[in-house]
Amino acid sequence: MTKRFVYADNAATTQVSDEVLEAMLPWLKEGYGNPSSIYEKGRQAGHAIEDARKKMAEALGAQPQEIYFTGCGSEADNWALKGVMHKLASKGKKHLITTVFEHHAILHTCAFLEKEGFEITYLPVGPLGLVTPEQVAQAIRPDTGLVSIMYANNEIGTIQPIPEIGKICRERGVLFHTDAVQAVGNVPINVVEQNIDMLSMSGHKIHAPKGVGALYMKKGIVIPNLIDGGEQERGRRAGTENVASIVGLGRAIELACADIPGKIAKVTPMRDRIIDALSDIPMCRLNGDRNRRLMGKQYVFCL
Ligand SMILES: *Cc1c(COP(=O)(O)O)cnc(C)c1O
Repeated sequence: MTKRFVYADNAATTQVSDEVLEAMLPWLKEGYGNPSSIYEKGRQAGHAIEDARKKMAEALGAQPQEIYFTGCGSEADNWALKGVMHKLASKGKKHLITTVFEHHAILHTCAFLEKEGFEITYLPVGPLGLVTPEQVAQAIRPDTGLVSIMYANNEIGTIQPIPEIGKICRERGVLFHTDAVQAVGNVPINVVEQNIDMLSMSGHKIHAPKGVGALYMKKGIVIPNLIDGGEQERGRRAGTENVASIVGLGRAIELACADIPGKIAKVTPMRDRIIDALSDIPMCRLNGDRNRRLMGKQYVFCL
């Protein structure tokens, strides 16, 4: 008898799905052309990347030319924060607002920026694991250049009031970035309706491979490159494209966003059953808000 294995850590990473793998394989074999090459084999790879970009844009309510593929979610976070702050420093904007419970890709980037002389405000999230739009409004100063608040937390799964925070940032003329690595495919996202200027995402949290991600950057935002070199990604992110993984990412986001309300309706009752069962254990309690949380996360800890 084979042992049954249950993998319950999809917040850390996910398995590449059969559909994603199938979409990728041709680009690891006969479709090996360099997308920058002008002959047929190269152009085919280039078209495959543009097709993935369209799928990504569609899933987020963005324009294809607002999507930049990166090497991972961490790179997208680094690029957004360092890029915006370095750009705005010359305009005297040296203040960034974030939260205490961001992923290390944000927190360690903030620590780096602090060493460079930037000022960071880390908003507390309280026992519910939520920041409020009012907290953000109160923290904005005349020299604030960027607000970066994660869409959904990677440890406790709480979902932040992103559209409301985005609205405040827009009214105050401050750029708004969100690390949506955990939210993409689990929460309906539309960058236009939700007032998002920049958004990071990653492949391996949505059944695409590790080592590919993307940054959505609203049209008109121009920041320094993080990686200089060739003219890939319209001259803004150098490095010969990871064609197969980008194709996989396009397929993965298409699948993940196909029916989010249906998934939420199906998975939420299962999540709640687990929460209820675990809450019956003496000294156990749920960490973070009971309802504003990802459908598939139910962290409980013992006091
Ligand atoms: C996983 C994760 C990242 C990092 O993405 P990588 O592709 O692994 O670099 C960033 N932010 C959050 C919230 C994550 O969960």
